[in-house]
Amino acid sequence: KIRVRFAPSPTGPLHIGGARSALFNYLWARKNKGTFIVRSEDTDLERSSRESEHNILEALRWLNIQWDEGIEVGGEHGPYRQTDRLELYREYTDKLLASGHAYYCYCTEDELEQERQALTSKGETPRYLGKCRQLSAEQRAALELEGRKPVVRFRVPDGQAIHIPDQVRGDVVFESNGIGDYVIVKSDGIPTYNFAVVVDDISMAITHVIRGEEHLSNTPRQVLIYEALGSPTPKFAHISLILNTEGGKMSKRDGDTAVIDYQQKGYLPEAIVNFIALLGWAPSGEEEFYTLDELTNVFSLDRVSKSPAVFDRHKLDYINTHYIKESSAERLAELALPYIDELGILPYEERSAEQQQWLISFINAISEKISHLSEVKDFIHYFHGDIPLEPEGEALEVLKGEQVPSVLASFREKVQGTELLSGETVKVLLKQMTKELKLGGKFVYMPVRVALTGQMHGPELYDIIPLLGLKNVLGRIAVTEA
Ligand code: GLU
Repeated sequence: KIRVRFAPSPTGPLHIGGARSALFNYLWARKNKGTFIVRSEDTDLERSSRESEHNILEALRWLNIQWDEGIEVGGEHGPYRQTDRLELYREYTDKLLASGHAYYCYCTEDELEQERQALTSKGETPRYLGKCRQLSAEQRAALELEGRKPVVRFRVPDGQAIHIPDQVRGDVVFESNGIGDYVIVKSDGIPTYNFAVVVDDISMAITHVIRGEEHLSNTPRQVLIYEALGSPTPKFAHISLILNTEGGKMSKRDGDTAVIDYQQKGYLPEAIVNFIALLGWAPSGEEEFYTLDELTNVFSLDRVSKSPAVFDRHKLDYINTHYIKESSAERLAELALPYIDELGILPYEERSAEQQQWLISFINAISEKISHLSEVKDFIHYFHGDIPLEPEGEALEVLKGEQVPSVLASFREKVQGTELLSGETVKVLLKQMTKELKLGGKFVYMPVRVALTGQMHGPELYDIIPLLGLKNVLGRIAVTEA
């Protein structure tokens, strides 16, 4: 039975790359009727926090990536937080010490630094050369008496080719010689990532390790520990790096890298899922829109690419636009409310039926024009308040037209006399004006548009006018006429 895991280090928010690892694991589990586990790798005590852990889990839930076993959910292989598993790491450490695969090292930071410098000056890769490999019991006791606190190092075998069976990259081979004996338990008794991850993957019966390519260089270290413990290695799948559109590594400088950034800007979770699925995985056909359920059916590790994925914000906007179009106005209104609320023009709770109707009509008027919901803020001025934006440039020229005073006067009279200002009545009324004033359409529509909005472009007049309402329409016309 397939068992996969997502193992974030809770040292910050869930990033796009992490979300993609979580998604691929989730999909692989679902597709194979396996189990998807989430555990917290919090052995970096200084940088880890419960708050980050909570935020990561919330982001996964928001994306609808649910886990079957793990933190907050429980399961037979718990606890699912590394700092709650120290006892287990201790047991595995003892096994490795007893079998001679690991040993205590008493070297001080200064000694290690000298070794590094000596190697570097000879043009060699800095690594630990094994000074403490053969300490006798007496030597150890003497060092302990000096008050030195040891670390535990893994004894790396000489001259071994380490094979990593990778589902994405094929067989990847590393030489053991360059590695140097590495620390598996720090002097404070906390295991390092490379050790704890192996103990967890063994004890949680993980069958596939699907994670970012940045971990490929750690994998030989992990494989050696599996071998020393006599455990079969899981299958690995290292998914490609995510680059920015310039080909560099995606970083904070490229803008938003955390899932929460997108949530806060009003992207839809299904769009993020769809978008990140396509970062390094490609479907076999032309179709580019996939819901989580659809992905579950079509996802496979064979179609995960080894070349880097490119994070293209335009593509994300394009995908989000698609899901906005697919969503009901009610849902969008709900999601747009926080941004409208910032502007303080509608009560967040307890809206009247009329206000709710206004909100829905507003969303319908603009939903085709936005790529994420925080953009509603840019449109509100078209539909709310009794003062138009100050016209500038060409828009100002429009208002200087000879016919404009009579157009605006006629418009004012007509709307005043209209009982119900609906899109339909507005359409009829503007038509009548072109006939009565004997003017081409644009000589009527454009001055009215600029008078009402201060701008030459924007949402449909048939949408703007009913949403503004009679009072605001008259107010805005009055401002322009003055
Ligand atoms: N804690 C590691 C990370 O957040 C997980 C690596 C792994 O999946 O083995 O990058």
